[in-house]
Amino acid sequence: LLAPARCAAAVGTAAPKVEGGGRRSSEQGQLAVAPARLVDELVEEALVWSSQHGLVVGDKNHPRSGKAPGVGLLHAPFALLPMSFSKVYWDQAVELAPLFNELVDRVSLDGDFLQETLASFSLSFSRTKEVDSFTGRLLDIHAKMMKLNKKEDVRLGLTRSDYMVDGATDQLLQVELNTISTSSNGLACGVCELHRNLIRQHERELGLDPESVVGNTAIAQHAEALAGAWAEFNNQSSVVLVVVQPEERYMYDQYWITVALREMYGVTTIRKTMAAIDAEGELRPDGTLTIDGLPVAVVYFRAGYTPNDYPSEAEWRARLLIECSSAIKCPSIAHHLVGTKKIQQELAKENVLERFLDNKADIEKVRKCFAGLWSLENDSIVMSAIESPELFVLKPQREGGGNNIYGDNLRETLISLKKDGSNELAAYILMQRIFPPASLCYLVRDGTCIRENAVSEFGIFGAYLRNKDRVIINDQCGYLMRTKAASLNEGGVVAGYAFLNSVFLT
Ligand code: ADP
Ligand code: MG
Ligand code: MG
Repeated sequence: LLAPARCAAAVGTAAPKVEGGGRRSSEQGQLAVAPARLVDELVEEALVWSSQHGLVVGDKNHPRSGKAPGVGLLHAPFALLPMSFSKVYWDQAVELAPLFNELVDRVSLDGDFLQETLASFSLSFSRTKEVDSFTGRLLDIHAKMMKLNKKEDVRLGLTRSDYMVDGATDQLLQVELNTISTSSNGLACGVCELHRNLIRQHERELGLDPESVVGNTAIAQHAEALAGAWAEFNNQSSVVLVVVQPEERYMYDQYWITVALREMYGVTTIRKTMAAIDAEGELRPDGTLTIDGLPVAVVYFRAGYTPNDYPSEAEWRARLLIECSSAIKCPSIAHHLVGTKKIQQELAKENVLERFLDNKADIEKVRKCFAGLWSLENDSIVMSAIESPELFVLKPQREGGGNNIYGDNLRETLISLKKDGSNELAAYILMQRIFPPASLCYLVRDGTCIRENAVSEFGIFGAYLRNKDRVIINDQCGYLMRTKAASLNEGGVVAGYAFLNSVFLT
């Protein structure tokens, strides 16, 4: 297994001529060879490559960059060289991907389990204080669908299971499982090509094999899954509706997928905000959702995962309209809810996985990657977390990065939640803090390269498509490696903490 020192950037392992890369200081003696010149050269080449190959995001300093394509572009933040990653972890994550896909689908079919586990969020239950009205309203839509006995025959999941290597135990532990708006599937492919290209150009100086950078199939496979779902809908004139935020500086990541969908499969996509869907969407008597008269085969959510995406009743009406329609939802409200942190914590309880998976060996594999997860009803864990907050992460029911609570904040939040004695406790979960091994990396943002002690989070994309009993796709679909300063608590590229990276398999 990967020892902490070896979880370094690939340069450290395979290219001792280059500075740093996280190897022990004795090996950094060779920095003197030509580090500054080579690093400068690599940075410049990488910046040119990014600009020429669409490894870009909207620049937050430009007022129109989130609205107008082609205006105010900036290279995406990236690590200069790939991260070495043990094949053992790679194989483990790949093997887990279809198991988690299947698990998500099975849990989604158990409406009572979802309602019971998330009951504390239910608006009708939280009389005294609003526990979390966002999750409550999602749950409300779910309850409505249950009442209508609405069945989703065709189900499409584009997932991403995120992991960190725990340095103390050398275990690959799951951070979370994303079931809605799993992003970076486009840009992750770009950074992988960038690294291959740089290494190819400097193969001799770096002493690395470009083929060891694992190719990323996320765009091709997610486009294939969306096209597969569109084909199941079986209406040549139908479109894929991409639900987007009114301002989206990450739009180029999304365009990678939708352009692939058009070029490889001839499938048309239209981009609409939730508000526009409310204004322009209609349900035909047979359940078909139409936008501007166009029948919608698939609704691909790249928004709708945060309360900010529902500023008024219009957005909630749109979500309900979509859910009531015959369009294939990626994800359905049930698949969305399975991705909540509360469900993650519930699945980690004893004998819960057994309700959804049959194969004992599969159950063991899944359980092995679970970190410690607790509800705040567990008094002794709450006390431990108040005593040693640095060993825990406190998570509210949110997505998109930047929402978790750490350290002193965690302690104070727990103390005040306990004092209130309210049912607000149920809106959070506690998780064991994972400490991945750190190594020195070159990280590039805004055209500037810094050298940071950094840690990485590895996500594996999945795709799941089925029509009734027929499982059409259940596969891993490429990956996302993200690297961030070890001193930071949070991660996430969109949230502005992490840098895109790729895998150098060792
Ligand atoms: P979100 O849905 O907002 O992405 P995450 O659970 O992924 O929520 O948490 C956001 C970030 O916080 C992660 O990308 C990771 O950097 C950090 N994080 C989350 N859980 C843990 C943990 N148990 N140990 C260490 N870091 C964590
Ligand atoms: Mg998430
Ligand atoms: Mg996350």
